[in-house]
Amino acid sequence: MKEDFYDILGISKSASAAEIKKAYRKKAIEFHPDKNPGDAKAEEMFKKAAEAYEVLSDPDKRAKYDQFGHAAFEAGGGFGGGGMNMEDIFSQFGDIFGSAFGGGFSGFGGFGGGQRRVKGSNLRIRVKLTLEEVANGVEKKVKVRRKVQADGVTYKTCPTCNGSGQVTKITNTILGRMQTATTCTTCGGAGQSIDKRPAGADAQGLTVEEETVSIKIPPGVEDGMQLKVSGKGNDAPGNGVPGDLLVAIETVEHSTLKREGDNLHYDLYISFSEAVLGSSKEIDAVGGKVRIKLEPGIQSGKILRLRGKGISSINGYGSGDLLVHVNVWTPKELNREQKEFFERMQNDENFTPKPEKSDKSFFEKVKDMFS
Ligand SMILES: [Zn+2]
Repeated sequence: MKEDFYDILGISKSASAAEIKKAYRKKAIEFHPDKNPGDAKAEEMFKKAAEAYEVLSDPDKRAKYDQFGHAAFEAGGGFGGGGMNMEDIFSQFGDIFGSAFGGGFSGFGGFGGGQRRVKGSNLRIRVKLTLEEVANGVEKKVKVRRKVQADGVTYKTCPTCNGSGQVTKITNTILGRMQTATTCTTCGGAGQSIDKRPAGADAQGLTVEEETVSIKIPPGVEDGMQLKVSGKGNDAPGNGVPGDLLVAIETVEHSTLKREGDNLHYDLYISFSEAVLGSSKEIDAVGGKVRIKLEPGIQSGKILRLRGKGISSINGYGSGDLLVHVNVWTPKELNREQKEFFERMQNDENFTPKPEKSDKSFFEKVKDMFS
């Protein structure tokens, strides 16, 4: 079970944006790798705090997290939803600590001599899914136009920053000499600049190429959710890492099934005689056809619950149900013979309504169902 993001930062669910930022600054300083060299536990805490901040600092992501929990960001399959790497974390710092602090945090080892690796920009696409695709999960192949490093492009160490990606400046202040670091404008922080630029490549040595990307969509996704395919965004120049492909889920309404959470609702219309004599009906459910039996004397408004025939939970906790709402169709036109029959039945004992407790009204049943 993943730890709660609010608990990680030690804040309440109602924390303001400023409180979230403050809490994160505190944790980031406390567990910073430069301060805790070789301490795996501190590094773990550092990453957890960054991940929590990444979600809670974004109002849109925070709302999704509040509603769906961790599931909103970990759609399983090939999505690197939750995990952040150190590069992502450091790229967040300009925002948190201001550029004056940037230099102090660039020294984390392991990225080719301490230089920050630039990440390519993210790409966004929308994917439309039918209810069947949502229910069963689906693999979608989409064509994406990505920027990639052109054939034959070469990069050299940036002459302005000597490959560090940063330019350091010493300023004299009343507190003494202060060292500030800013991103190198020549290479955009990549530490490398273009050496050989092939025809058709842009200033960063990138060209646009169409690529077919396969996206595994797990069952149970909802309209508005976003999935991430790591590394399928735009390439970065030099030895940078590619951005991500962000996939926004859009769902198409089904003609007969209505979704409500993980449950599905279906309106079944039966004839008056079917209600009286009983019947057997076939329903197109998301997993295929389902046969249901209607007992003789079934009442209009009855809801039949077919367990597990709804949508699989995205959290992996089983499946919802299919709720079949029985509607008895009253004939509007009758021939003379039929009319005479019903006239004879008007005062018949068998035709007089005698509702029992089990024939509760629709509203009572709905109340029971959701309580
Ligand atoms: Zn540079």
